[in-house]
Amino acid sequence: MFDHLSSLPADPILGLLATYRADDNPRKIDLGVGVYKDEAGHTPVLQAVKEAETRLLRSEETKAYVGPAGTPGFNSAMQELVLGAGHPALVGNRVRSAQTPGGCGALRVLAEFANRAKEHATIWVSDPTWANHVPLLGNAGLQIKSYPYYDRATSSLKFDEMVETLKNVGEGELVLFHACCHNPCGADLSREQWQVLAEMAQRQGFTPFIDMAYQGFGDSLDADAYGLRLMAESVPEMLVAASCSKNFGLYRERVGMAMAIYRDADAADRGQSQMLNVVRGNYSMPPNHGGAIVESILTDAGLRANWEAELTEMRERINSLRSGLVDSLEKAGAVGDFHFIQQQKGMFSFLGITPEQVQKLQQDYSIYMVDSSRISIAGLSQSNMAYFCESVAEVLE
Ligand code: PMP
Repeated sequence: MFDHLSSLPADPILGLLATYRADDNPRKIDLGVGVYKDEAGHTPVLQAVKEAETRLLRSEETKAYVGPAGTPGFNSAMQELVLGAGHPALVGNRVRSAQTPGGCGALRVLAEFANRAKEHATIWVSDPTWANHVPLLGNAGLQIKSYPYYDRATSSLKFDEMVETLKNVGEGELVLFHACCHNPCGADLSREQWQVLAEMAQRQGFTPFIDMAYQGFGDSLDADAYGLRLMAESVPEMLVAASCSKNFGLYRERVGMAMAIYRDADAADRGQSQMLNVVRGNYSMPPNHGGAIVESILTDAGLRANWEAELTEMRERINSLRSGLVDSLEKAGAVGDFHFIQQQKGMFSFLGITPEQVQKLQQDYSIYMVDSSRISIAGLSQSNMAYFCESVAEVLE
């Protein structure tokens, strides 16, 4: 039965990581995988998470099933984190959600849910977008089309072209937006641009589908949700996939939320019955541990304050690496203007060099990044910054 299956090529990012691990150059740098790293190159367990886990171990009395939606406490705390307390959609009782295995689980559940509402509906995604969006949404049956978003030649947004393409998108179609910290390009929409898009969604009737994988990694928890919250005020229906992987550092625990906003409470109850049926037919119910940690942090004032401080520290480290990178590239005499890196947000930016230069960095300097020249900023540190920038300057000569 399985003998005829051919092997697929390794995932480029995971393949890159394997080559990096096998490299014995002590100066090697991994800028591939998108996980946060501290100055020592370590991805730490947050203190607030450790404390929540300790409390959980002491207080947990059963491992009995929770149910397809996860716990109500997790869902209401996450809805408030994403939408902000008192958001009109919450006050109107129009929001329903389910705890999912990571942001990926949320994307997949929402895609299947949307495909039930309208089979093979079109979803517009940014060009470029995170590579995994394509299978997560497409394998659920949605038809993927793309809108222009980022111009690699000028390292800036193609907002006018984006608007031009989306102006013909209407009812029954979905448009995927990155809430903040765009993966892979780091270039986010301004508040004015969000306002234009929210108005278009309202007028044209397309359904926004917002992927929020980095809340708190850009400017702040609230500022990063500006566009999402505005959209949710402007339209009657919307989908949101939230991830707790980065901002809670819970990557392997797999925690996220699939959230839908409906026209009214009655539609919300009907929609939620479908959403939970999608979950039941996939993985039945989400793992509990990570969600219980998030719930505990968000609902305890002390833990929450500690978490927000740790999140701020991660964000500030990334932002200072961004400005440090621009300065060091200049100091190293790298040809080109890299100031855009300082304006961009979150884990990633495209360095903007050619695939041949990316290969040279890997072969001659043991510096690893994907062919598109997307770099994971947190893989840099005070100790490897000069080596990185001098190497880039040499390959750009
Ligand atoms: N969306 C985007 C844009 C991402 O970058 C990621 C993580 N790389 C996710 C969603 C989902 O991540 P996870 O499933 O690990 O929560």
